[in-house]
Amino acid sequence: MIGLISATAAGAAARDRLAAAWPGRTRVYEGPVREAVERAFAECEQLVCFLATGATVRLIAPLLADKASDPGVVTVDESLRHAVALLGGHGGGANDLAHAVADVLGCAPVVTTATDATDIPGLDTLGRPVEGAVAAVTRAILDGERVALRADTVWPLPPLPPNVVPAPVPTGRVGQDAGPAERAGTPSAAQNTAPADDGQAADGSSQAPLAAQSVARAEDGAVPPTADAETGTGTVSADGSAGAPADPGTGPDAAAAGATLWVTDRILPLGAREALVRPPSLVVGVGASKGAPVEEVLGLVEGALRDAGLSVGSVVELATVDAKAGEAGIVEAAARLGVPVRTYDAGTLAAIVVPNPSGAPLAAVGTPSVAEAAALAGGGELLVPKRKSAPEGRAAMATCAVVRRAPRGRLAVVGLGPGARDLLTPRAREELRRASVLVGLDQYVDQIRDLLRPGTTILESGLGAEEERARTAVAEARKGHAVALIGSGDAGVYAMASPALAEAADDIDVVGVPGVTAALAAAAILGAPLGHDHVSISLSDLHTPWEVIERRVRAAAEADIVVTFYNPRSRGRDWQLPNALGILAEHRAPTTPVGVVRNASRTDESSRLTTLAGLDPATVDMMTVVTVGNTATREIAGRMVTPRGYRWQSEGAR
Ligand code: SAH
Repeated sequence: MIGLISATAAGAAARDRLAAAWPGRTRVYEGPVREAVERAFAECEQLVCFLATGATVRLIAPLLADKASDPGVVTVDESLRHAVALLGGHGGGANDLAHAVADVLGCAPVVTTATDATDIPGLDTLGRPVEGAVAAVTRAILDGERVALRADTVWPLPPLPPNVVPAPVPTGRVGQDAGPAERAGTPSAAQNTAPADDGQAADGSSQAPLAAQSVARAEDGAVPPTADAETGTGTVSADGSAGAPADPGTGPDAAAAGATLWVTDRILPLGAREALVRPPSLVVGVGASKGAPVEEVLGLVEGALRDAGLSVGSVVELATVDAKAGEAGIVEAAARLGVPVRTYDAGTLAAIVVPNPSGAPLAAVGTPSVAEAAALAGGGELLVPKRKSAPEGRAAMATCAVVRRAPRGRLAVVGLGPGARDLLTPRAREELRRASVLVGLDQYVDQIRDLLRPGTTILESGLGAEEERARTAVAEARKGHAVALIGSGDAGVYAMASPALAEAADDIDVVGVPGVTAALAAAAILGAPLGHDHVSISLSDLHTPWEVIERRVRAAAEADIVVTFYNPRSRGRDWQLPNALGILAEHRAPTTPVGVVRNASRTDESSRLTTLAGLDPATVDMMTVVTVGNTATREIAGRMVTPRGYRWQSEGAR
């Protein structure tokens, strides 16, 4: 809940606008301001105060408890010029709230948190648990100090600046895991000697995935850090060649640097200048007899992880067999761990080869293994083989097994809109900043280069190499990186989304961000030409036979549908547009309005309204879309208008 506090009439008016814009999310606190703030501070996760910053500071100062529990506070000046994130920028969500308030009220967001102000992702904003000296490591990153990034698994991190340099995970260090656990007095000795845990973790996990992580990071490292810290991004050619990979994180140099950012699912003793991010890398398979108590399931899972030196913070899901989907002990254990339960059918689990099959589950649920098989069903490496719970005085009711899965890479397919910066959606902007690897046509990269975070690896290529771009983007995501594949307009319209998704298997996450496609950008300039049914047709016959294109143009002509032609004409393709217009003219009057828009929303935008008979194809090029009206489309006051139809008003009234 967002508490709203105001002191004056102007403040109250703004407060009411906010309340109206966010129904159900806000609560208005009235009465004397001091008490209103006190109550809101105690009851709400966030506050918006329509007060001077000084007044807000004085009112909340006596109420401050600690960073973890205090609400996020935004203060807005009475003349609605600024929405200031005053308290709880990251944890309290005040930075985001300041932006959201600014959007509603039309003021400027003011954010002063260092990581946001200097454009470095806050370690606590990655959506993953963090541990250790987060503030100190963040400070070191901000100060441009060399910080070692020690990741024992690839994870789609956002770009980190070039002074954060990949470094190997020292095997000795990982091997020390047993140490702190033992020192802490946990009953781990027996488990830690099991080769299935330490043996696999030391070589399997720390070396291979790290190499993959280093590929992109090494590209950053190849650029001198001092220059790069200033200028922002590192660039490499589309084939990925980036010169000799730097290996700065090893040896005495790294030790001298001190500050270290770990990305690991292992329990580590952290030094004073070390912080850690938990990657979503562990799956725990669980089996449970009917009625198994949650304490038994949870105790088993937590014990297995602890004994193997693995953190619960990296667990992404509990996996089991369909028949146990509603087993209370499992469901509740997952809820307490804050992860979902994922189930598989018995047939799928029975087909998975496991080290410890047994007869009991086969009889009960039709698979010789539940815990191991369910943990392994999504692939990965078995770190902890099947373990049983050990309740006092009765038989075990739960089993578990732990698998490490390579975290899934992330491919965002991002439409940049037609050109103008303010037609790039906020979501697209976020995805561009979220990606550590950007893939795209060089001219589109130029369009957004200034929005990228320092440290972003840019893989740009020239016109044509579409399939190669698609393959590169998918390959980078498969390595576990966060990748953005960009295209103008909407990236799914005659653009990169389909070649990329044709390449992609279900081993990566894909996020699509819609963009304003040329037909819509042009329509808004022309008037309202798309007010009734409409199609887009590309006249490029490079990859589509002309007969197919002609058949579609004819169908649109016969069905009286408004048509927007993309790729209408180029130097080498000049007869297709007249041909297509000729087909439409067989079914539409010569006076049918035709809108021609070139470089919609770009600096040299131009547009013209003409007719089917009047259009001179020579005025059309590849930067243009051509929109042909239907038989009802009219030019009204210099604008192209396609009526919604004579039944519209009566329909609206119904
Ligand atoms: N994905 C893009 C379309 C790519 S096909 C989109 O959704 O807009 C390329 C064609 O799109 C160009 O030949 C031109 O016909 C059209 N186009 C793209 N951007 C344009 C713009 N800003 N103004 C006019 N036409 C544009």
